[in-house]
Amino acid sequence: MTTVTSAPLSNVAVVGAGMAGLACANRLAEHGVAVTVFDKARGPGGRMSTKRLDQAQLDLGAQAFTVRDPAFRDAVAGWLSSGLVAPWPVVSYQASSSGWQLHHDPHTRYTGVPRMSAVTRHLADRFQTHPQTALHLATRIEALQRSPNGWQLQDAQGRDFGPFDHVVLTTPPPQALPLLAPWEATLAEACRARDQRSCWAAWAVLDAPLPTPPGGQSDWQMARIDHPALRLVSRNQTKPGREQQPESLSLMAHLDWSEAHLEDDPQAVAELLWAAFTASFPADTPLPLRVSSGAHRWRYAQPSTADDRLFLYSDSGLAMCGDSFTASRVESAWVSGTQMAQALIDRSVHNRAGESQPNK
Ligand SMILES: Cc1cc2nc3c(=O)[nH]c(=O)nc-3n(C[C@H](O)[C@H](O)[C@H](O)COP(=O)(O)OP(=O)(O)OC[C@H]3O[C@@H](n4cnc5c(N)ncnc54)[C@H](O)[C@@H]3O)c2cc1C
Repeated sequence: MTTVTSAPLSNVAVVGAGMAGLACANRLAEHGVAVTVFDKARGPGGRMSTKRLDQAQLDLGAQAFTVRDPAFRDAVAGWLSSGLVAPWPVVSYQASSSGWQLHHDPHTRYTGVPRMSAVTRHLADRFQTHPQTALHLATRIEALQRSPNGWQLQDAQGRDFGPFDHVVLTTPPPQALPLLAPWEATLAEACRARDQRSCWAAWAVLDAPLPTPPGGQSDWQMARIDHPALRLVSRNQTKPGREQQPESLSLMAHLDWSEAHLEDDPQAVAELLWAAFTASFPADTPLPLRVSSGAHRWRYAQPSTADDRLFLYSDSGLAMCGDSFTASRVESAWVSGTQMAQALIDRSVHNRAGESQPNK
């Protein structure tokens, strides 16, 4: 697993239309490579997805992301100037039953405008402006087959796609494992070694604004909660571009709690997380009523430990990237996908130079 495949780089399949897959697809398409992206979901975004109700749009995965890498900083600067992202939150709190304190966050964080999934939607639209590109949504890839011309992909409806000279898997490792296991023992082993944690994310749309919290201000945007079930609450109507929507909360559970309640009914989880949130207000505080609530289970929310590998590849043309081998962050996924594509491009340029100088 030390060299990128020596197969020509002309026709690549990317499985997963989250941040990593779309970053990878864009870089390859800019280089003139034909790229086809597949995702089992009905829309792009993966763990940056947003729930869209009639009354409100609620981010149920990433709430806001940080920027450290210089290349990612350049990309975010472009998104910022085109209004696709904006700094948020600027008013954060730490909340417990004994009161709320302002939380000073040393990092600037950004969120998508008017929803987090707008960023991945933009990347999906952009890569398709290049020739020979396609995005297949609602297409769950269930098997890979090797043919003399390259890799064939089969989906859950029995359709065949390909051949492709490379396949880049950007799914969490447990979802990549059944695809890789028949073909790549080393990549399959790397997947088995990456444990994933689960997370419940609930939402609540309210019929009136929340009262001012004890010790806090009415303009709070995000709060870290000191509770065994609930770790973080976001107010979606305080995110840029969503000011018109009613009080609408995203409630993120702790990972340990999520795993203890993994098979619970989603509505029961939504009730428990709402109760956890209301415990951060004095017991006699009248609170608004919920007009909509529910919960989404992220079975593969994040790797259990961080690693320093940005991507993995093999001589067969199979490769893996995404946040799952590094830290679980939007930025890590973008860096991983972009560097995966660049490594494939660099290798193909190197191979072509070698072919034109056969005696060296
Ligand atoms: C609850 C939660 C909160 C988070 N909060 C933050 C935060 O505040 N800040 C931050 O920076 N990061 C946060 N993250 C992490 C961040 O969302 C991820 O690191 C990032 O979005 C991962 O992108 P990815 O492309 O690597 O993977 P994903 O977004 O998971 O993309 C993988 C895609 O593969 C698709 N797929 C899977 N199997 C198949 C198949 N067989 N066939 C076709 N498609 C398939 C999936 O549908 C998915 O779209 C959070 C994550 C969660 C779950």
